[in-house]
Amino acid sequence: MQEYQQYINGEFVDSVSGEFFESQNPFNQEVLAKIPASTSEDVNLAVAAAKEAFEETDWSDVRQSQTRAQLLRSIGAQIREKIDELAEVESLDSGKTITETQLVDVHYAADTFEYFADLATQISGEVLPVPAEALDFTLREPLGVCGAIGAWNFPILFTAWKTAPALAAGNTLVYKPAQLTSRSALEVAKIFDQVGLPKGVVNIVTGSGRGVGQVLAEHHQVAKISFTGSTEVGRTVLKAAASNLKKSTLELGGKSPNIVFNDADLDRAVSAALTGIFFNGGQCCIAGSRLLLQEGIYDKFVEQLVERTKKIKLGDPLDWDSRMGPMITRKQQQQILEYIEWGKQNGMKLLTGGSIPKNPELSQGNFIEPTIFEASNNDLKLCQEEIFGPVLSVLKFKTESEALQIANDTPFGLASAVWTQDIKRALRMAKKIKAGQVWVNQYLMISPFAPHGGYKQSGYGKDLSRHCLEEYTQIKNVYVDLSEEEFLTLYE
Ligand code: NAD
Repeated sequence: MQEYQQYINGEFVDSVSGEFFESQNPFNQEVLAKIPASTSEDVNLAVAAAKEAFEETDWSDVRQSQTRAQLLRSIGAQIREKIDELAEVESLDSGKTITETQLVDVHYAADTFEYFADLATQISGEVLPVPAEALDFTLREPLGVCGAIGAWNFPILFTAWKTAPALAAGNTLVYKPAQLTSRSALEVAKIFDQVGLPKGVVNIVTGSGRGVGQVLAEHHQVAKISFTGSTEVGRTVLKAAASNLKKSTLELGGKSPNIVFNDADLDRAVSAALTGIFFNGGQCCIAGSRLLLQEGIYDKFVEQLVERTKKIKLGDPLDWDSRMGPMITRKQQQQILEYIEWGKQNGMKLLTGGSIPKNPELSQGNFIEPTIFEASNNDLKLCQEEIFGPVLSVLKFKTESEALQIANDTPFGLASAVWTQDIKRALRMAKKIKAGQVWVNQYLMISPFAPHGGYKQSGYGKDLSRHCLEEYTQIKNVYVDLSEEEFLTLYE
């Protein structure tokens, strides 16, 4: 069994306590690796190393921007070199199918490092046209030591999303991956080391939310916390961040509406509805977990959707034919089953799925059948709460205004989609939907070029894109008086 070490101050080290926790394969419950169980002592060491790298070296100096760009580009290139290896680690650890990890996640992680490499040399302030004889300009400066905490559902992507912009902007970082899926972050740490990232610039500590994440979020030497996870834990992180008023980015849960009008391209919309809810077994923050269908296409759409859902092959995540793997843990599987049971008990019409698959070959895995319910109204628990599993609620609507009302009627506002051939309607909806992302005739498209982040209780601040660099920098104003006149004062 592989035994990992955490990455602190440019070295791979055991946790101070010497304790480990185990990483388990959700497909067969096999123990895959031992991961260091860090505590506050490890966090303190990591933060001290990051502080020293920020304050005592020239890492954050603007003259190093090309070096930072070069290093980020090399990290992207090394990830590409190791796609097969990294994809396998990720699939074993998380239960994501190899098609997802190899064709999507690991590539996107490399894309992210390369994208922020390009931006590293372009961070600048601006000259302000003040109506005075003066030169007024802003400097966009790094924050210092940043902390970041990731969720388990896209582990290698979150390592990239949190690390790349922080470094591009000249910060140093302490990153805590999710306890359930820490391996790919520690594999990427090997790449950080290999490309020669200066010591202390990135530190990776592994362990529990309370024992490590909370300590990082509370730490007074940490200037910013970037969190991806549930809305519930996001609230706790925000309270912890208040300790020294650190800047916070919260990427939280969702209950995203996928809205299909009568005039939509049906085949594409059905394909996207399947992808929207069943990609990564529905364990996606941006899952299209509420499908809103206009009444004219309702029956035809549902028929095709159910037919194609029944064909989804559940199986070993390492099998290239598998289209859905197991849920991350038994606990997660149980929670999803409880939602399904609630749906059955409360009069929701089950269209397909609804239980653990009967196939004995899957009995060791945390599988759930892809499940679709018809929902009579949007107030139902299954339409309001994030299930984080392969469970879709389908709602019928008549008019555009009704669709909009249903779409916005949740505490969340992460993503959404509108399917129509009518460009005016698409744009009207795009303006009125209260969510950080609106796709038109598309679902699940995420790119480093575009900002990702929520409205309402889906959080605030952005991952990815130029906008994300604003989260990792602060603005200083410099006013240079050029006047030759006497200083204007009220005082003699
Ligand atoms: P979670 O909130 O349970 O855990 C997220 C991270 O927070 C983990 O690393 C965990 O160890 C840590 N943590 C737990 N308690 C903590 C505490 N008290 N202080 C600090 N850190 C703590 O979420 P999860 O189960 O890992 O992920 C699923 C959730 O993440 C879903 O709600 C999903 O929607 C959300 N998510 C959001 C996005 C987004 O970009 N908006 C992306 C992926 C996942």
